[in-house]
Amino acid sequence: MIRIGIIGGGASGMMAAITAGEHIRQLHLEKQVQVTLLEAEAFPGKKILSTGNGRCNFSNRDFSTDKYHTASPDIAEAVFSCFGVQDLCSFLERIGMRIKEREGYLYPSTDSAATVRDLLERALYRLPVTVHTDTMVSDISIDEGGQFTVTCADHKTCSFDRLILSCGTKAGLSPKQMRERENSFDLAELAKKLGLSFSAFVPGLVRLPMEDPFFKKTHGIRIDGEVSLFAEDRLLGREKGEIQLTEKALSGIPVFQHSALALQALKEGKQVTAHVNLLPDLSADALWEDISRRLSAYPEDTVSGALLGLLPGKVLEALLYRLGCKSSVKAGDFTGEITHLVNAIRDLTFPVEIMPELASGQVCHGGLSLNAFTNNLEAKALPGFYATGEALSIDGICGGYNLQWAFSSGYVAGNHILQEFYDPDQ
Ligand SMILES: Cc1cc2nc3c(=O)[nH]c(=O)nc-3n(C[C@H](O)[C@H](O)[C@H](O)COP(=O)(O)OP(=O)(O)OC[C@H]3O[C@@H](n4cnc5c(N)ncnc54)[C@H](O)[C@@H]3O)c2cc1C
Repeated sequence: MIRIGIIGGGASGMMAAITAGEHIRQLHLEKQVQVTLLEAEAFPGKKILSTGNGRCNFSNRDFSTDKYHTASPDIAEAVFSCFGVQDLCSFLERIGMRIKEREGYLYPSTDSAATVRDLLERALYRLPVTVHTDTMVSDISIDEGGQFTVTCADHKTCSFDRLILSCGTKAGLSPKQMRERENSFDLAELAKKLGLSFSAFVPGLVRLPMEDPFFKKTHGIRIDGEVSLFAEDRLLGREKGEIQLTEKALSGIPVFQHSALALQALKEGKQVTAHVNLLPDLSADALWEDISRRLSAYPEDTVSGALLGLLPGKVLEALLYRLGCKSSVKAGDFTGEITHLVNAIRDLTFPVEIMPELASGQVCHGGLSLNAFTNNLEAKALPGFYATGEALSIDGICGGYNLQWAFSSGYVAGNHILQEFYDPDQ
């Protein structure tokens, strides 16, 4: 009997278990292979419920490996060519889901993440897979014969011949879940013990905390703009879209997309800055002309009064405060400052100095080095040990790419782990 253990029943662990379970059923391996999934929560797939604001954006038609931050795009490419966007759609339809597409973004037609989770759970429970919920794994060790011993928080142990690590990360966990995870193994320490290379996590798809007074004055404002993130002089990423100004953070999708790279650079001790262009569709000259025309039209009004309509009032006032311009200054007396204002609107710069909590992001950047794994996600130095999903050092931008990776990697590991039964040459 071959015993397969899967640690974590999130998107990738459920997919690995379903894939292995389907092979067992199709090949009549019930007496030869046993699959056990160990999940810390009371039911599998809990995180799926909060994805896509409760609607679960599970993938995207506009797909390429460029949508991911990883040092091993070749391995990601191999995984996606084995199980890509269309394979995921066909699988989800096969288990009962109807799919809705909005500008390439893929969702369940019910617009409910619970549909995705519930269908996966039903598919799982129909297969020859044993699921233990409320089971927190606290340690994993490997003996000289290559057997894996898994110890749970209640001190029970189980042995497996092969193991798939699908434990995800701390991204998005509630304070209660964070406290419970203190009983879990630490992935960095586990990697060290198993001889796998690991890079420490930083949060990704996350708002960037700011202490600048600009945010106190403008909080609650949403504005279409462009955010560029730099580590020293190196551009990490540039993105247009709706920027959200909160009391203590720069937020919104244009900030999220490359936040992981910014925080990785911050962790490495680099000087990181966020540059905001509040009117990216206007050239510097056009903006200069526009401001000049408004100021000359109402020379007796205050500057912010004359410029109202160009930007939200709170933003204008915060910009003028930043430039040291008193609110009482008349438009007619401001004409010499137009170039400074144009520069402030087009390149509003904030230092990125605060590392947010891991739980505050939608994903984590870092993890077990993907490079230490084969294209089938088996550790090169540790036969029989696989990893999937966010535990590996790859993370995508917003748009369904992280769940696509979770499902693709889960499929690849769950498929390969039984390969000797359907591909005897392997
Ligand atoms: C708020 C939010 C919104 C998101 N929205 C989207 C979106 O719309 N589209 C998208 O593509 N991605 C989204 N993501 C990211 C996506 O959810 C993750 O990338 C994906 O779920 C990762 O899958 P995984 O299987 O690696 O990990 P997870 O889904 O986190 O699953 C890991 C599982 O392992 C279990 N586990 C952990 N440690 C142990 C242990 N020691 N013992 C036993 N079990 C353990 C956990 O309880 C969990 O069930 C979002 C994330 C968040 C937080």
